[in-house]
Amino acid sequence: MHIGLFGERRARPPEHQASRDSNWGFCHFNNIAMSVEKLRQKSHIGKAFIVDIDLCCGDRTANTFTGNSDIAYFHVDGVNRDNYLNNLSKFLETQKGYDLLAVSAGFDRHQQDWGGLLTTSDYFTIGKMIRESALGECSGRRYAVLEGGYNHMVLGENVKAFLQGME
Ligand SMILES: [Zn+2]
Repeated sequence: MHIGLFGERRARPPEHQASRDSNWGFCHFNNIAMSVEKLRQKSHIGKAFIVDIDLCCGDRTANTFTGNSDIAYFHVDGVNRDNYLNNLSKFLETQKGYDLLAVSAGFDRHQQDWGGLLTTSDYFTIGKMIRESALGECSGRRYAVLEGGYNHMVLGENVKAFLQGME
């Protein structure tokens, strides 16, 4: 979190490595964990799946819901583009019965970012997979929060491609 000259507070993603009482990896407020927990506490959802497409595992998101059978966390990984997309596809196909699909949308696995793997059009594909899965399983209920992504020359295009797939 940056506290500016005029007292404004800005949180810059990522946040999936922050927990209730500790933080690392530039993370301070775990937006995905807080939002899903809030929806659950208010009984807007029963069961939710959190899909994390960031390069880094959202360990604190996973830890937040350890032992809670209503909230599942999945960090997508893969040794190459096809493997990564197939792993996500398989996960989405096998998971059933959720009320919400929430995405930790990190873009640091892009070819011009730390991960050096995915193309911008892959983010469109990922967004589309999320959309279709949510439409099939939970009346389309889905949202994403921004996580990592450190090359500002490509971050905007990647976020845009993902959102175009998601909408
Ligand atoms: Zn990351």
